[in-house]
Amino acid sequence: MTPNEYVKKRFGRFMDECTNEEIYTALLEYVKEKAEEKESSQGKKKLYYISAEFLIGKLLSNNLINLGLYDEVKTDLEKCGKSIAQIEEIEQEPSLGNGGLGRLAACFLDSIATLGLNGDGVGLNYHLGLFRQVFENNLQKELPNPWITPQSWLTKTDRTYRIHFGGFAVQSRMYDIDVVGYENRTTKLHLFDVESVDESLVGEGIDFDKTQFAKNLTLFLYPDDSDENGRLLRVYQQYFMVSNAARLILEECTEKGSNLYDLPEYAVIQINDTHPTMVIPELIRLLMERGMTMDEAIDVVSKTCAYTNHTILAEALEKWPMHYMQQAVPHLVPIIYELNNRVNKKYNDPSVAIINNDRCVCMAHIDIHYGISVNGVAALHTEILKDAELNHFYKLYPEKFNNKTNGITFRRWLLYCNPQLSKFIEELIGSGFKKDAMELEKLADFVDDDTVLEKLLAIKDARKVALRDYLKHTQGIDIQADSIFDIQIKRLHEYKRQQMNALYVIHKYFEIKSGKLPVRPITVFFGAKAAPAYIIAKDIIHLILCLSQLINNDPQVSPYLKVVMVENYNVTLAEKLIPACDVSEQISLASKEASGTSNMKFMLNGAVTLGTNDGANVEIAELVGADNIFTFGESSQEVIDRYKRADYVSKDYYEKDEDLKKAVDFIISDDIMKLGCKENLERLYNELLNKDWFMTFPDFQDYVKTKDEIFAAYEDRKAWAKKMLINISKAGFFSSDRTIEQYNDEIWKLEK
Ligand SMILES: *Cc1c(COP(=O)(O)O)cnc(C)c1O
Repeated sequence: MTPNEYVKKRFGRFMDECTNEEIYTALLEYVKEKAEEKESSQGKKKLYYISAEFLIGKLLSNNLINLGLYDEVKTDLEKCGKSIAQIEEIEQEPSLGNGGLGRLAACFLDSIATLGLNGDGVGLNYHLGLFRQVFENNLQKELPNPWITPQSWLTKTDRTYRIHFGGFAVQSRMYDIDVVGYENRTTKLHLFDVESVDESLVGEGIDFDKTQFAKNLTLFLYPDDSDENGRLLRVYQQYFMVSNAARLILEECTEKGSNLYDLPEYAVIQINDTHPTMVIPELIRLLMERGMTMDEAIDVVSKTCAYTNHTILAEALEKWPMHYMQQAVPHLVPIIYELNNRVNKKYNDPSVAIINNDRCVCMAHIDIHYGISVNGVAALHTEILKDAELNHFYKLYPEKFNNKTNGITFRRWLLYCNPQLSKFIEELIGSGFKKDAMELEKLADFVDDDTVLEKLLAIKDARKVALRDYLKHTQGIDIQADSIFDIQIKRLHEYKRQQMNALYVIHKYFEIKSGKLPVRPITVFFGAKAAPAYIIAKDIIHLILCLSQLINNDPQVSPYLKVVMVENYNVTLAEKLIPACDVSEQISLASKEASGTSNMKFMLNGAVTLGTNDGANVEIAELVGADNIFTFGESSQEVIDRYKRADYVSKDYYEKDEDLKKAVDFIISDDIMKLGCKENLERLYNELLNKDWFMTFPDFQDYVKTKDEIFAAYEDRKAWAKKMLINISKAGFFSSDRTIEQYNDEIWKLEK
């Protein structure tokens, strides 16, 4: 049955007589049916990838591509004067993630299915997602982001559990989303929900009653944790997630014949960051309920769990007060005490204890002591874990530590988001790269081929025009497609240093005002959500929006410089921005960005990186060579030493550096103040001047210099096209298929 015949069967009419909504509904059902027909992965041992976030993006096109149906559907639609893009607009992007960590989990599921590995994802079904970002008066405002429509990818299952908390219990239910591998099998993303969830608890914006746990557990992802009730709710959410996961695992393994003593032969659990850590004590508890001794249960669980660390930011390593545990999950408390006692007895070292001197439970410590593996997510990050952050643990368990440099799925981040480039690559080197990304290396043969280089530039130009049209259509933004597209899109965090980019913008504004004009116009794009309680991050958004208003409306400046902050940055926007990018901004403070993955998406789409020697940028630089990346700034070692010495004084730099001083002072100038709020701008100004915890100032001059160099390099169009080609040709290493192969070979050991 062709897609069009399916639509006819479903609605009694062919596509040309259906509304876009009807076509969407029919295609959704069509894809679900086709996915069901695909053999699901099997095998004795199964991976459970537990994560608080799965930033999966829209699924229609991606699933059609992976099922090999995309071209057929596209043709059928075009025959009746419609496009896939129109149909896609109907699909709501699932709002189940925050940023890189959730997107990584989504890329991993795609690769697990594509490689035919037996593994499922487990998470929560947040009804209102993270939040939808809107800008009002140059400020971020948060609104609920409901994404579950009557027709969605969720399939209700019969699996329900009764989950007990201190003083009450709830009934859970599992929903599934099919994860369709590229020309391969299907696996599942299991999302647990509470039957009693109640959206009417939500008041103004994203405010809601945080005390009614039975009704609010799956309303939002990471509810505001600036207050006690918000933090407590996270503990309830986390336990809800892992208790469901643990029951699912034990049921499935028992069904397959496990006697539970042999659980590690049937299951391996990857703990994505510390949010799912309570799966360890919960499994121990459930195994003891099923007759094991504590010793036996601890032994079994310790051979089943593996932990991925995503950050060295101390504030992100979760520590929950023992009295939260006592309130939310009193039945885990004796187990956590026992786990702590065993560690203390063995090592007698407070720095590796599970319960610290403040009577908080250090979640990562549970993972490290009671798991088989601890991995970082880029080479530099893993080295820093071993040498510094987790050095005490590394000395105890050197064999547990390993690196798994992150990756991205090329199905979404090339085949789907940039079909023009993908098709061109196929013309040059055949289609093998779609399954084996390392084949992209063959592109290096064309590095002196002028026709190829020109075509590459033409594809980029076309994507810039497409982005211009899209932003005009969706957000009413006007940009010049023949300007240089300089793009920084990622969560807003001080360590990622959007503030440094903003200072550059101010600096450029002054240059233009004084008559020093750039050779070619520059468009600086930002896209970022700030956590609702992260005050300074929201102040940085405020500054960028004020700058955008000022600059874009200044007739003297705007022909040469524009600042665009896209609203509600998400996967859908990333898919439009990345193929159109010339300069990929990866300017985190060295040592602070564990890996980054947008850096990989950009290089794959022929952007050139402007970055610090941080995270996976280091590996990108090694692969493409110094001619094809622009790096700057202090090294991670210098930064680490600075923190150790604790002698950084931002004011010293401000006073010594005229350009910097001028740019920083501009934050509280009349020009900006009249567009913004005094309170926010002054707070940001003072923060930079008196703290600058993420050391923007020492790197500022080097950043300005290097950014001007990269813009100058852009003018040699042929040399630039070569850089683009080399970046694409070296991107194969960053396929998440490679990452997942490594996880499997070294940690999971699933049958293939
Ligand atoms: C890839 C991606 C990220 C991660 O970006 P980083 O620059 O690596 O932090 C965040 N959000 C979305 C929507 C993404 O697609």
